[in-house]
Amino acid sequence: MNNADYWARRFKIMEDALKDQSYEYVLNLEKQFDAAIREIDTQMRAWYQRFAVNNNITLADAQKMLTTGELKEFLWTVQEYIEKGREMSLSGAWIKELENASARVHISRLDALKFQLRQQAEALAQARVKATTDASRLAYTQSYYHTAFEVQRGLGVGWTMQALNEDAIKKVLSRPWTVDNQTFTARCWTDKAKLVETVNQEITQMMARGAAPDKAIEAIAKRFNTSKTNAGRVVMTESAYFSSAAQKDCFNELDVERYRVIGTLDTHTCDICGDLDGRVYKMSEYVVGSTAPPFHPWCRCCTAPYFEDMEGIGERYARDAETGQRYKLPKDTTYKQWKQMQDAAHGSGFVDKKRKMGYNTSTDTKQFEAYKARLGDEAPKSFADFQKLKYDNPTAYNDLAGYYRYKGNNPDSNRGLYNANNAAKAMRAAGTLKTKGTITVAPKGRSIVDINTHAAKRMAERGITQEMAQQIIDNADFAIKQRRGSQYAYYTKDGFAVLDNNGVLGTTGPLDEGGKTLYDEVMKNAKDSKQ
Ligand SMILES: [Zn+2]
Ligand SMILES: [Zn+2]
Repeated sequence: MNNADYWARRFKIMEDALKDQSYEYVLNLEKQFDAAIREIDTQMRAWYQRFAVNNNITLADAQKMLTTGELKEFLWTVQEYIEKGREMSLSGAWIKELENASARVHISRLDALKFQLRQQAEALAQARVKATTDASRLAYTQSYYHTAFEVQRGLGVGWTMQALNEDAIKKVLSRPWTVDNQTFTARCWTDKAKLVETVNQEITQMMARGAAPDKAIEAIAKRFNTSKTNAGRVVMTESAYFSSAAQKDCFNELDVERYRVIGTLDTHTCDICGDLDGRVYKMSEYVVGSTAPPFHPWCRCCTAPYFEDMEGIGERYARDAETGQRYKLPKDTTYKQWKQMQDAAHGSGFVDKKRKMGYNTSTDTKQFEAYKARLGDEAPKSFADFQKLKYDNPTAYNDLAGYYRYKGNNPDSNRGLYNANNAAKAMRAAGTLKTKGTITVAPKGRSIVDINTHAAKRMAERGITQEMAQQIIDNADFAIKQRRGSQYAYYTKDGFAVLDNNGVLGTTGPLDEGGKTLYDEVMKNAKDSKQ
């Protein structure tokens, strides 16, 4: 095998693996399309059965308002769509429309059906954007690191790589690259608008026919299937583009001067790709679509670095070693071994971590926004800080994630009491604390309206009056939330009182040894966190 063939083979294997990975996204997306088509079928038939008179439906029938019962039922569906829509982050415009619909007191049968069918198109559009983004991001980051590895192994010399920068990946992904200058996201939305248009048209024609919805369902399914095919093609083409873009960026980073086009040579190879296979270009000529793959949708070509002769090449490339040490790389090095060497230079888990950070940028951004909204100043200052914490400092990140959940359940509480609650958990685990519940701020303005028998007995024994118990509740330094928040145990340095949310006092008393230890521990944490 000559030198050029070696590179061609290595890079082809890598590209094929990446394509298989992208294809997984396509299969998953196809499943979602099929489910949506089934759902539309069901909804249209149910609607028709309900409102058709003697197997006939007219526009006049369809434009009748929903009855009170039907409206109520419809509004539940809308509510469900809104909730699901928020979870799946469907488009803001659609959620706004749903919210407006949920406030309406009159809605026609026809509009009700349109809303239900529109939800399917909205959810699919979102699924398309997500699948394409995820596949492209993965293709870009994986292709980048695998290309780096292949080049280094091929040259027999390794050096540490600069990690991909998240902002750069984001920029790459958001740049349109096709002739129509549309990003894939824009293309998904355009296609969605066409789906909605088809649905509305078909429903109108169904009324005109006055017949069962079979024809309309068939036509809608046909249009959705076309969209499904487009969606799959876009995922493959976009991820092929970003894989090629990553190769270009990586070759540039490695100072590769020329590259060669590698086609898949089999019976499926088209004339364009067959013709370009084996051509060598300068890196400055690297233009995706004309001198670099993908040359067309579903193109299976890739590129490999091209070296006229290998003489001295390892030496030349090792000059780039400022970023880290240089080492000999045996030809049979595996990707895993190479990764270990990178990790040894940059710290454990470096390559995987960087790949993950790039891959998770969009979900991490959403997460960071949620943290900022809930924690305010207590959230990390910037997105970079947040990711650094998440991937570099698992202990601190888990602590922050715990605080985020804690604040969700106890919005009025604070960092000091969260720390105190963790301390209490540790004490429980060590067997030094028996009291159950979550330490939180004491709810304000709660009054004793009744005293149960147990509490009354304890108060008599301990010489505590209702007024004294109320004092503890009013002046509590903190409380322990118990029984899913239906009762609180209030603590001061003098005593405790347990009051449920109906105002019934369950028990009260002075702090025993355990109570004092807990009280001191909580106050210490509260004080420490203020410093
Ligand atoms: Zn081709
Ligand atoms: Zn091709």
